[in-house]
Amino acid sequence: QAPVVAIVGRPNVGKSTLFNRLVGKRLALVDDRPGVTRDRREGDADLLGVPFRIVDTAGFESDDPQTLPGRMRAQTEAAVAQADAAIFMIDARAGVTPLDETVAQWLRGSDTPIVLVCNKAEGRAAEPGIMESFALGLGDPIALSAEHGEGMGDLFTALLPYI
Ligand code: GDP
Ligand code: MG
Repeated sequence: QAPVVAIVGRPNVGKSTLFNRLVGKRLALVDDRPGVTRDRREGDADLLGVPFRIVDTAGFESDDPQTLPGRMRAQTEAAVAQADAAIFMIDARAGVTPLDETVAQWLRGSDTPIVLVCNKAEGRAAEPGIMESFALGLGDPIALSAEHGEGMGDLFTALLPYI
């Protein structure tokens, strides 16, 4: 059984962009069953020749932590609990948001190893967000540009102990 890595984070940070980059043409299945697996995609990923299974979670329907549906929290926590490691992605250009802090708090209590990824890190505009992310308490961030493929080697190094 291949190791499983889940990607979690609020909407629009770039989870699916990273998923697509890792899976490439090997997308095995799109799971559109109703309920908790509704927007969950899984595929066979490859990072520098190391194969693993990747799960792209839907994230959250609402960007407001006050109205965040418990179901979405449950979905994220289940995906993380079932994974060998989880990528927690934030948007470095947007900086750390209240919802990022809420999710980070859940993840700090998880037994699953968490790799903190600051996406959209191409260029100087990402630097303040990367600095802020150290305060999330999830270790040193990996600066990534999922869209441009920058930082993939650093992501590989961070995931390698778990895949
Ligand atoms: P998701 O909702 O977390 O799955 O995010 P998506 O993968 O759908 O990406 C949301 C938006 O961010 C899209 O417009 C992407 O093109 C953009 N995006 C993703 N990765 C990057 C990146 O590395 N840099 C920049 N500048 N934009 C990105
Ligand atoms: Mg997505």
